[in-house]
Amino acid sequence: MTQPKRIVIVGGVAGGASAAARARRLSEDVTITLLERGPDVSFANCGLPYHVAGIIPERARLLVQTPQSLSARFGIDVRVHAEVMSVDSAGREVTVKDRLSGACYQLAYDALVLSPGAEPVRPPIPGADDPRVRTLRNMGDMDAILKLLAGTDTGAAVIVGAGYIGLEMAEALRHRGLEVVLVEKIGQVMGVADPEMVVPLQEELVRKGVDLRLGLSVEAFQAPDGGPLRALLTDGSSIPCRLAILAIGVRPETTLARSAGLTLGTTGGILVDQGMRTSDPHIWAVGDAVEVRDALLDVPALIPLAGPANRQGRIAAENILGRTTRYLGTQGTAICKVFHLAFAMTGQSEKGLLRRGLPFRKIYVHPADHATYYPEAHPMSLKLLFHPESGQILGAQAVGPAGVDKRIDVIATAMRGKLTVFDLEDSELCYAPPFGSAKDPVNMAGFVAANVLRGDAELWETEELAHLRPDQVLLDVRNPGEFAKGTIPGARLLPVDDLRAELAQLDPAKEYLAFCQVGLRGYLACRILTQRGFKARNLSGGYKRYQMWKGVQ
Ligand code: FAD
Repeated sequence: MTQPKRIVIVGGVAGGASAAARARRLSEDVTITLLERGPDVSFANCGLPYHVAGIIPERARLLVQTPQSLSARFGIDVRVHAEVMSVDSAGREVTVKDRLSGACYQLAYDALVLSPGAEPVRPPIPGADDPRVRTLRNMGDMDAILKLLAGTDTGAAVIVGAGYIGLEMAEALRHRGLEVVLVEKIGQVMGVADPEMVVPLQEELVRKGVDLRLGLSVEAFQAPDGGPLRALLTDGSSIPCRLAILAIGVRPETTLARSAGLTLGTTGGILVDQGMRTSDPHIWAVGDAVEVRDALLDVPALIPLAGPANRQGRIAAENILGRTTRYLGTQGTAICKVFHLAFAMTGQSEKGLLRRGLPFRKIYVHPADHATYYPEAHPMSLKLLFHPESGQILGAQAVGPAGVDKRIDVIATAMRGKLTVFDLEDSELCYAPPFGSAKDPVNMAGFVAANVLRGDAELWETEELAHLRPDQVLLDVRNPGEFAKGTIPGARLLPVDDLRAELAQLDPAKEYLAFCQVGLRGYLACRILTQRGFKARNLSGGYKRYQMWKGVQ
């Protein structure tokens, strides 16, 4: 394709605005028209829950750019209230409807970028058309929710779906003082995560007064004669509420793509190549509307996140303007704040690997975010998944009050470089007591995982507790005080510091399943036992990990 003269972009937020700005930086000659059906461009969707909470008090702060500022800075023809109704790919023009006047007009393009995003799923729940049942996608949705609250923060809100938007809205409304009932169909919050890793989030929600209803869904909303709204749950309970928010996921907006005859992928997103080009050589597509390749497994996926949308917008602009840049897939690096805690993950989860029948090993560590002798150190729980032979990192999840973002970002970067757990051992990360530890949590995860692969540490898994054999002994190697506070049922107490003196009491015919609080003393115990000829395995993550696992059972 020769250098285009006219670029038309549909959708003026994450992917669309990025494509427009990048295109202008690369060419002062091209005409760029940005068409957005709503009243705002380039607003911070991700900030919406925090304005609802009142943490970002000024609404205007969510408007990262206005049509005027985008136009002035980048020389872009920005049209809001401009909805693209259809695409004529043969004639290379779009039909635009001015939503204020109702007038329609045609606009020709040489290159078209579709960044229409994804729409919230609204399941056919009876009564869900009540105006008090809302979804949250844009500034208008946020305004509608605030209007329903009308400045009084009493009464209850029902939130359906405990993904990251549902969790953020639960926190936001609790922060304002409302009663919040959070209803989630599956037995855990944050469905993309492994269940044991979100047990701390569930406990935090309950601690902060959220009425968490796992394993339930809303069957109907009722408001006889337009009276008070109630949500009817599948367990028969009926919850009076001032408003309800449906946060049960999004689906790619593909109406325009279909009108243009573009090929969709198996997931239902718009099919694009690595340059973000669709099946039509003059049309590119980016953001939540497209099907991406999973960066690790190279399979099709829908992963609606702001970072990928922004990068894809940039890449589409580069390819349109003659630079060959490739999008190398999405790995699902994400983070969510839940009151005092943060949960972050990257790559595959254990349940995703199990579903695909892929081989993996896993370890857990619970290090502090910085040196424990420096004030305000907090433990985190970090789970690392890796290939059982090569040690290639397959995924990681972390939960804790501080520092999980940094560790997951480091591991996400390592995954991009196809690094292994041995590289994590060897990573040199910044350290001073207020910031980290000389052995950073990332190094610790690398040490533990590498120990497993080198055969220095054999592990046992909590799942084995369901079918313990008579020749297996659970060995709690913590001190008596810790043991007295709670242990794994059936465990025998033998503190690691007494172990060498007590070896004669142990039976070489048995296998010892050792554990301590977080995994380190259990590892030391296993090293002593195995070097003395006993069969022994350690529980990585120790009793703390057992408690997380128990929280799921
Ligand atoms: P959008 O940003 O949704 O933009 C699409 C735009 O296209 C919309 O404004 C729409 O009006 C417009 N449009 C659609 N069809 C037409 C048409 N026919 N004509 C004209 N205009 C059209 N992601 C994260 O990574 N981290 C977060 O913390 C995070 N928090 C979020 C919180 C909330 C409440 C929401 C809703 C999303 C959040 N996301 C987050 C997701 C992130 O916002 C999206 O992944 C990202 O915005 C997708 O960019 P996009 O350009 O594909 O779509």
